[in-house]
Amino acid sequence: MAALKYSRQREAIKKFLMERKDHPTADMIYLGLLDKFPNLSLGTVYRNLTLLSDTGEINRLRLGDGTDHFDGNTAPHYHFICEKCGRVMDIAVDGLDSFIVSADSCFYGKIKGHVAYFYGECPNCLETS
Ligand code: ZN
Ligand code: MN
Repeated sequence: MAALKYSRQREAIKKFLMERKDHPTADMIYLGLLDKFPNLSLGTVYRNLTLLSDTGEINRLRLGDGTDHFDGNTAPHYHFICEKCGRVMDIAVDGLDSFIVSADSCFYGKIKGHVAYFYGECPNCLETS
């Protein structure tokens, strides 16, 4: 499959995501890599982001703002999105795992996964409002 061939661009996209914690969108990744890859197209970035998230090398986050965000950290963790500035942050939540286990024990079907994110005002916006 041609799409799975080693690609310098794909490696660069993955590295870009591993090195930051701000959960960028495809546009931000594209703009961030243009210096290094002047011929890069937004379509290539989208294609590679899809490939990398399909293979589990990165996480695609859908946080209700209509735009996908991407995360190089694939360990299970939760996210907060600021309704004011759009910032996406990691958030540590105690007890969420047991909440999910309890959903499983209360339900006779088969739960395969869940989606959870938190929203509100980030510390920065709270301070300046
Ligand atoms: Zn904010
Ligand atoms: Mn994260």
